Amino acid sequence: MDKNKVTMDEVVNVAKRRAFIYPGSEIYGGLANAWDYGPYGVLLKKNVKKIWWEDMVMKRPDIIGLDSAILMNPKVWEASGHLKEFTDPLVDCKKCKQRFKADDIKDKVCPECGGELTEARRFNLMFKTHAGPVDDESSLVYLRPETAQGIFVDFKNILDTTRVKLPFGVAQIGKSFRNEITPGNFIFRTREFEQFEIEYFVKSALEAKKAFDEWVKVRLEWYKSLGIHSENLRLREHTKDELAHYAIAATDIEYNFPFGFLELEGIANRGDYDLKQHEKFSGQDLKYFDEETKTQILPFVVEPSGGVDRTVLAILIDAYDKDRVEGEERTVLRFHPRIAPIKAAVFPLVKKEPLIMRAKEIYHQLKEKYFVEYDESGTIGRRYRRQDEIGTPYCITVDFDSLEDGAVTVRDRDTMKQDRVPLVAVQEWLEQRIK
Ligand code: ATP
Repeated sequence: MDKNKVTMDEVVNVAKRRAFIYPGSEIYGGLANAWDYGPYGVLLKKNVKKIWWEDMVMKRPDIIGLDSAILMNPKVWEASGHLKEFTDPLVDCKKCKQRFKADDIKDKVCPECGGELTEARRFNLMFKTHAGPVDDESSLVYLRPETAQGIFVDFKNILDTTRVKLPFGVAQIGKSFRNEITPGNFIFRTREFEQFEIEYFVKSALEAKKAFDEWVKVRLEWYKSLGIHSENLRLREHTKDELAHYAIAATDIEYNFPFGFLELEGIANRGDYDLKQHEKFSGQDLKYFDEETKTQILPFVVEPSGGVDRTVLAILIDAYDKDRVEGEERTVLRFHPRIAPIKAAVFPLVKKEPLIMRAKEIYHQLKEKYFVEYDESGTIGRRYRRQDEIGTPYCITVDFDSLEDGAVTVRDRDTMKQDRVPLVAVQEWLEQRIK
């Protein structure tokens, strides 16, 4: 199906109907732009994070993991520049009192009521809270707006306690919070979201330049490996005037969302800005001793920084399809088997023994290793449709022939072709296909 024909309404509907994503706090009327991941959504999201962790950390000899705290000493945000620079220009409508991001205003008047707007002022996007029972300045802490700073702050500990040698990277997945002025487009922009970030440390500015080019390629290929169509992905280099305060160069990987090509992940060459700032503000030596040259180096860093929720959204949109089967329209989520929340469903052809018993045996056997489902209700066609809509790549049916030949029918979600697979080989058959 032509991806441009997929609307956000269709995606939001299937996400709700099929237990991927629910509106947050719905029984209380919701909370604007807060979303909960339902039973299939959580599996999809966990698969994205698991695959990222396997591909970026487990399979690479040069990357290690970290999980730093969300609440940090407020000095971190002074050093990083977030207290001063992490702002959006905001305007208020004098008439209807609504607030807008100044960058989104086209005609200098309120887009809602045409009223006069105030001058733009800087609005810091960091959420504030208080640690402990006293609500004063001394207890002020921030919810982290990015996971990256936790990595820089632990850099010294990592050097002192592990055997890393430059170049090396530190990877982290975790929640970040931004008090966005204009959140929206479902889970594209929310105030609470998850990021996966790598800080990749190298010896020199020249090496940083090379590592930057390399990371842009690695990350683009990674999105393709999730099954996202390459024609829906593109790279966009930042112009000098849009670079963040710390960046020497930045390239975004963009996805063709129904509301336009927009950022999925940003890759930035941050130079030695962060470690230099943290040296200055903490008074600690954050240099790396280079055995080869016997010199102290303050490493340069390249950062691939992506959003878990945006990746989930891109995967949902990219996988969404409609076709006709036996005269009926079917909605199908064509997830890559590696990403699919449910890997296989097991059915008895009819709700009768001993088919039920045989099917349940296979189900319990597979369930030890994978998320699989068992379903015996309704016609086989209806059961297929249900699995198609949650993107299950394979349906395994035990029929009367199975009792004779010890084989089952495996139906492929996309080709709808059916294969006979010996019962003893089902697990191996599945394993080969969902890697
Ligand atoms: P944008 O320009 O869309 O606000 P950004 O350039 O500020 O994004 P980064 O600071 O580079 O974003 O964050 C890295 C990644 O984190 C983004 O590519 C995106 O996938 C994700 N991300 C950032 N802000 C949000 C948000 N409010 N909601 C969901 N994901 C987000």
